[in-house]
Amino acid sequence: MSFIEIQSVNKHYNSVQALFDVSLTVRKGEFVTLLGPSGSGKTTLLRILSGFEPVTSGAIRMGGRDITALTPERRNFGLVFQGYALFPHMSVTDNIAYPLKVRRKSRAEIAERVQTMLDLVQLGRFARRKPHELSGGQQQRVALARALVFQPDLLLLDEPMSALDKKLRFDLQEELRDIHRRLGTTFINVTHDQEEAMHMSDSIAVMNHGRIEQYGSAFALYRQPESRFVAGFIGKSNLLEGTVSAGIFRAEGGAVELQDAGADGAAALMLRPEDVLLSLDPGEDSGRVALPAEVVSSTYSGDRALYTVALGPQIRFLIYGPARAGLIADGARVFVTFDPKDCLLLR
Ligand code: ADP
Repeated sequence: MSFIEIQSVNKHYNSVQALFDVSLTVRKGEFVTLLGPSGSGKTTLLRILSGFEPVTSGAIRMGGRDITALTPERRNFGLVFQGYALFPHMSVTDNIAYPLKVRRKSRAEIAERVQTMLDLVQLGRFARRKPHELSGGQQQRVALARALVFQPDLLLLDEPMSALDKKLRFDLQEELRDIHRRLGTTFINVTHDQEEAMHMSDSIAVMNHGRIEQYGSAFALYRQPESRFVAGFIGKSNLLEGTVSAGIFRAEGGAVELQDAGADGAAALMLRPEDVLLSLDPGEDSGRVALPAEVVSSTYSGDRALYTVALGPQIRFLIYGPARAGLIADGARVFVTFDPKDCLLLR
């Protein structure tokens, strides 16, 4: 059941077109992330959802109602935006209470709801502090509490973790996911960090040059990317450029017979690092393809080693290899082996 519908939205800033015919459907209670590199149009789309930026054409609907022309105040969405800093002179409690005061709620209701939010973001002990007396992560949790205290239909988050260090980001991601689960509010988040997107979201819209390239779960995007861009942006991928003719994929590095190879023509064969094995001999297993390669470099991280191997002058593969028996030396002649079933052809 769709809750938020973005319908064929185009956005021009004078001569720059920032969004091209963007359509997206979000279900009630879903955690959706807009993911893409800088300049791909994520913030523009989020600002359009918030009501701060008008569309050039297209429509936004909520629960079937057209809200395209509504002001931000009338939309009543929770916002955790960079430009929406905490009020520096107010305590944590007063910051969180503010949206309820604006909405003229009773003292008793305000006190109760603020307490609920303080518990939710685990900041009860800091209720009297001012923002500058809090860490970055704590400030973000206050911003989150302030955005959720009035029980909005939708929470919009613009790179809420960007200013935090890696460890703190991970903790806050966990917390955000937990809060989302407990409240059941619909969340739409913006990030350029694919790990963050995969960690938290039910669905991810991968954006590139003002378009949504693909929309789906982290699993679908990782296992079934529909374009080279998505394959490269989500996780690590190995690409072998070549051509398909009569069901056989041929590349500089070798030939691979594939079922469902599709139409003849140029294509890239894609394999995730974990679908490729490195071995010192071509092996007996007739079901697997073995292509000769040379180890270029390796990195050791204790539990595993990550090898870069060359299949040709311009072709590099990343492969996880065994780490317990020591590393295979740079320059060693090896074979990369894989099951054709794990290959995906990208056009
Ligand atoms: P992202 O959030 O993915 O980094 P943005 O939505 O900020 O992308 O920007 C998308 C495109 O629109 C970029 O080319 C950017 O330069 C342009 N853009 C964004 N805001 C404005 C603006 N206020 N005026 C003109 N161009 C803008």
